[in-house]
Amino acid sequence: MEPQNQILLGKYELGRRLGSGSFAKVHLARSIATNDLVAVKIIDKKKTIDSNMEPRIIREIDAMRRLRDHPNILQIHEVMATRSKIYLVMELAAGGELFSKLLRRGRLPESTARRYFQQLASALSFSHRDGVAHRDVKPQNLLLDSEGNLKVSDFGLSALPEHLRDGLLHTACGTPAYTAPEVISRRGYDGAKADAWSCGVILFVLLVGEVPFDDSNIASMYRKIQRRDYKFPSWISKQAKSVIYQMLDPNPVTRMSIEAVMKTGWFNKGLDASVINLCEPEPVMEKLSSITAFDLISLSSGLDLSGLFESKKKRERRFTAKVSAVEVEEEAKVIGERLGYTVRKTKKEVVLGSGRTAIVVEAVELAVGVVVVDVKVVDGEEGDSRWSDLITEFEVVVLSWHSDVM
Ligand code: ADP
Ligand code: MG
Repeated sequence: MEPQNQILLGKYELGRRLGSGSFAKVHLARSIATNDLVAVKIIDKKKTIDSNMEPRIIREIDAMRRLRDHPNILQIHEVMATRSKIYLVMELAAGGELFSKLLRRGRLPESTARRYFQQLASALSFSHRDGVAHRDVKPQNLLLDSEGNLKVSDFGLSALPEHLRDGLLHTACGTPAYTAPEVISRRGYDGAKADAWSCGVILFVLLVGEVPFDDSNIASMYRKIQRRDYKFPSWISKQAKSVIYQMLDPNPVTRMSIEAVMKTGWFNKGLDASVINLCEPEPVMEKLSSITAFDLISLSSGLDLSGLFESKKKRERRFTAKVSAVEVEEEAKVIGERLGYTVRKTKKEVVLGSGRTAIVVEAVELAVGVVVVDVKVVDGEEGDSRWSDLITEFEVVVLSWHSDVM
């Protein structure tokens, strides 16, 4: 146990324990420089076993850092590490877990439940747009700030190895009550749709006060899920039932997405302006930033240009490198030249160009010896075979590919 009042690396004074998870403890702390209260997640490297784990934890951190601009996503301030521990300094969620509140008060009135659900959906759709799915939306990860606003924590927990993940699911909730069926059955899955499932379960729990599928036996729980075998109490409104029913669709293809829920009348009832702003799609011009003046002329002439609005195939891959950031950049230059791209090096990245296409390779050292690399098309488009050639070439510097970039 961490002694209280210990000074962490000269910067934070450690206070009482706020909670603990299966691989970390979370303490209250005070910044010595600013006096601000924060939460520090302490990850014991010894307990997190193999050295493979470290880059995975760093991934969790990285995923959270990339999502720092949403009011309902728990902010991460700083990451520090010693030989034996990783310290993640984050925003304090002074209101604790949403579900302790639910336990104290029983089920919530529909308007209150809807407000939390609006904030949850807004946070998730924001991160999905950025290519990150949460994949572990469950009560313990829904925290509240001092004003009662929802803060989603633990983005990137999906980075944990299978056995730890399983342990977590079983010990924390008895059964994976919040996990989508396609995830339980280990089929390949779409992270955003898996999150939509979990949101459906959360909404049910907020309104009803218990989980829809509850069975200590996974096989029998799975059968209930497939048969949509759950009961709505009489007090649930028709509209809320319809939303839950469509999100708890065992088939991820026909399941209602979070974006679609956000367009329903039920969702938009009493929506406050700050959430509305976050729900609105980006301005059209921004999305079309790569179209030419010619495209614009055709657009106004009434031709069917719906193809323009279809989102392009996401060309983005991420990996943890087995060499330094500088070596990754060197390799990117060699690969780029070999495949016939023009290669340009800027301060923070290597840009591979070809016609109107620009691909950026960015290598960042997240912690000593942990280099994470993004390869991503930022302009124009890249064909299937050229893209897969490029990705294959990088293999020589890859320690492990990340799968959380959809
Ligand atoms: P794990 O990822 O190992 O499950 P968590 O990060 O979820 O650990 O933290 C465990 C518990 O600590 C949470 O369920 C919550 O009660 C508490 N906690 C975590 N982060 C914060 C925070 N930023 N502010 C307040 N309490 C927190
Ligand atoms: Mg957690």
